[in-house]
Order: sequence, then C-alpha cells, then structure tokens
Amino acid sequence: MLAPDPIELTRKLVASDTINPPGDEEWSARYLAQILSAAGFDVKLQRFGERRFNLVAKLAGAQGGKPLGFTGHLDTVPLGTVEWTHDAHGGEVADGRLYGRGSSDMKAGIAAFIVACLPMIDTLRASHGLQLILTGGEETGCDGAHALTRAEPGMLEPLGALIVGEPTSNRVVVGHKGALWLRGTARGVTAHGAMPQEGVNAIYKVAEALRKIQQFEVGAAHPVMGAPTLNVGTIQGGLNINSVPDRAEFSVDMRTVPGIRHACVVDRLHDHLADIELSPIIDLPPVYSDPEDSWIARVSGLARARRGTDGASQAPCTVQFFTDAAVLSPATGHPPTIILGPGEPEMAHKTDEYCRVDRLLEAVDLYRDILIDWVAQ
Ligand SMILES: [Zn+2]
Repeated sequence: MLAPDPIELTRKLVASDTINPPGDEEWSARYLAQILSAAGFDVKLQRFGERRFNLVAKLAGAQGGKPLGFTGHLDTVPLGTVEWTHDAHGGEVADGRLYGRGSSDMKAGIAAFIVACLPMIDTLRASHGLQLILTGGEETGCDGAHALTRAEPGMLEPLGALIVGEPTSNRVVVGHKGALWLRGTARGVTAHGAMPQEGVNAIYKVAEALRKIQQFEVGAAHPVMGAPTLNVGTIQGGLNINSVPDRAEFSVDMRTVPGIRHACVVDRLHDHLADIELSPIIDLPPVYSDPEDSWIARVSGLARARRGTDGASQAPCTVQFFTDAAVLSPATGHPPTIILGPGEPEMAHKTDEYCRVDRLLEAVDLYRDILIDWVAQ
C-alpha cells in the first residue's frame, strides 16, 4: 500500500485539536483507524469517556511468536498562557520546522511509524506481526493506557519488544523514572482565631510534616538513572485569617528509579510523617530495559548509523518524563522497551512547539530499519 507523506500526515494530526484537558481523540483515532484498516490491520477502537479514544491495530504474524509493539499518545497538553506566533493547529512548515501543539510530543512520532510500516505490511504479516497501541489521555497520567488494561481480554497481548515514539531526537532511550504523586492531608479542630487554645491547627501539622519530609530518603540511586527525587509542589490550608484551620493539604511529587517499590515508599513516608493521611494521585512505576539486550543493542546501532553520533555519548541514557510504557510494559509482559521518536524533547509542552522536518524524515527511515531488522529475526 502506498504510504502517506509523513509531513502531511503529521500536519493532519496536528490540525486536530486533542488538547487534554478536556481531551478529544475521536477524530484522530477514527482517521488513523481508517488508514490502518485499509492497509490490512485488524483495528479496534476503545472509548473511555466522552470523545475519548484509544486505538489498537494488530497485524497477526504467520510465524507466531510475539509481535513488535509501537505506542504513541494522541492527546496533547494545553497551549499555555503565552500567545503563539504560529497557529497551534496550523501545521505550518517554515525553516525546516513543522509547528504546532503536539508536533514533537508526539504526533510526528506516530505519523513516522505509520508511514514506515505501511509499505511493509506483507513482510510484517509473514513474520511475528506488529501491534500499534495509540492512546488518549496520556498527558493527565496515562488514563487511556490504564483504560486499555481494563479492556476486554485480547486488546493487549504479550509483545516481543516495545517502541515508545515520545520525543528523543531519534536517540534510543532505555527507560524513565517512575512517578509517585501523593496528597498529604492533616486534620485539626477549628476554633476562633482569638482563642487558638480551643482548637488544633492543621496548618501547624503540615508545617511540621514538611520540615520532616525534607529529611526523607526515597531510596537508593540507580547506576544509569541516578537518584530518586522528591518535591513538594503545592500547599493549601485555612479558610479565613481569624479561624484555626481544621484541614490543610500538600502534594508531593516523587520520581523513582528501579529497585524502589512504591507501596514500601508510601508505608515508610506514612510512618515518617505521622498524623498525615496520604492518598495517591499518580502511581506509575519506573521503566528500564537492559541496554545489553540483543534487540536494544541492534536498534541502538541502527539509530547511531542513521543519526551519526554527533558527539553525543554512547552510554545508555534515560529520560526524566514518564510515558505510557509505565502502564503498557507491565501489561504486555515487560518486553525490552525503548523510547525513540523524532520530536525534540525540549520542545514538549512549549509555546511554539515544533518538530524538525529532517528528524521526522529520519525517523521514517530509522523505524523502517528497525522493522526490517525485526522481520529478519
Ligand atoms: Zn508525550
């Protein structure tokens, strides 16, 4: 089948507003479903909310074995408060850049992979097969991926390897930190502000907890990912100046590394803080694959050959942001997983976001190299 032009396909996807919240992946999911089913994929759409969609497209392999997986998210973050100088949904191409919300993060990655695999349908069908998992709701905490894990049996299946097309400038990335976000709540007893001895001040409890939390050790560092981190991002408490507050809250953002179990961290933090209720906001484990794994080593070689090393270190690298792999990798049997996409990581979530056109075209070639390697196995 004739593949669409990668620039035009990216522009088409950028033109569809999938800003989340509120999130609306319906048009994109249906549009890609049409292209993929016309090419011979078995396509399923999963609705997980009003105009909220995931798409799973499968190409069963005649050789059996586990298919190669590719995943990307269709939603984007909001535009921010600063005005854009380029139309955020115009897909304008200027000076070698394709502008628009979601261009780097990560519609170019999705477009490049689809363009790469369409001319290879017959070869892929004769091998171990291919599965595309295109999600909604990633930006608000992998909501679409979570919905897929709760879907009818058979939507997700064990994969032989997984590519996450998030922006890495076409570098192979072997993992990312986990995210454990918690809300801490302190309760007190309200009273008149002129008679504080009659009450119990919840803000004082939070202040004490925040003093202690700075001494909390999340866990041991990882040799590649480095140390886990902890940050208190918000604090709220009190209704008016002349009352003793009976409730105060704060939120903690921990980024974890392999070897740290989130349930243990929550238990330890609970003991450490005492008198603070902790409730989860986001709980996504870290993702890490062995850089020495034979598939990852081959793909890293293919990426270096396409991209050149341009002075970049050849040491395995990881990224700080989390991806749907935190949910999809455990749900597909923990396959060797890489993050590899044409977007510029530093463009993600920015005003005047763009994807470099040369990287987009390079990604089509690189994904095709990876598919050729896959079918040759
Ligand atoms: Zn993303």
